[in-house]
Amino acid sequence: MCNHLRTELQHKVIRLTDEGKPDSFVLKLKLKCLDCITYFTFRTPKMGLLPDEPTTGFDKSELRVPLTAPDPVTNN
Ligand SMILES: [Zn+2]
Repeated sequence: MCNHLRTELQHKVIRLTDEGKPDSFVLKLKLKCLDCITYFTFRTPKMGLLPDEPTTGFDKSELRVPLTAPDPVTNN
């Protein structure tokens, strides 16, 4: 029986090119137990990919959070 005490957070940042907006990104998060090598599941009820609310993939192991990137900073 695993108590899931040792975990690893995995993340990816995906740029949404089909949104048509250059500042639309999605943060994808997964949390893996390092002892039993299984993924936690998120309780977010919606599946898929929505531009303005968090969703999960079909097996609920990936949380997808829409982001707005900061305005570009110029270093002149
Ligand atoms: Zn575990």
